[in-house]
Amino acid sequence: MSIGRLLPTVAVDLPEKKRPISVNLLRNIVHPILNIPSSTVNWPLNLETEQTVADMLATASKLQNMAGLAAPQIGKNLRIFIHQISDEGKLADRTIVIINPKILEKSEKIVKAYEGCFSVSGYKGLVPRHETIKVEYYDLAGQIVVKEISNPFLARVFQHEMDHLEGILYYQRMDLMDPLEPVE
Ligand SMILES: [Zn+2]
Repeated sequence: MSIGRLLPTVAVDLPEKKRPISVNLLRNIVHPILNIPSSTVNWPLNLETEQTVADMLATASKLQNMAGLAAPQIGKNLRIFIHQISDEGKLADRTIVIINPKILEKSEKIVKAYEGCFSVSGYKGLVPRHETIKVEYYDLAGQIVVKEISNPFLARVFQHEMDHLEGILYYQRMDLMDPLEPVE
């Protein structure tokens, strides 16, 4: 998930970037890797997985305003994402690696806010998400982490990135009446 200006990774090739477009049009031109569920990561990490994490961190270092990035966005269907959002919902200096995440609990309250995505370059849209969630995941050392995420923005980043691991892009969660809008 991105904040503000975007740079593409594995990207949807959009024909027109100046005005809102129909979500149905976008659905037809998305990269197929972004539309299939990813595989669970096994321990100990194999070379392919370690390389994927290294590639994701290298990609993140080149992206401006990166909130999160999922493995399918660099062409690997593995259940890994990285994010650099603090528990207070601010851009942080450090990048956190999340492996095999699961949502354990989610708030009934749903909130809508704008999301962008490095794979849907140049657009943003209002996406309904659970305001808070409780998650379980593995860190890079293989330790299990259980975490209550009460900050709505961090909860949104988790839900956006976890959707990538199911082959779902944010515009598929948007209300049909809400348009995708150009960033800028
Ligand atoms: Zn995304």
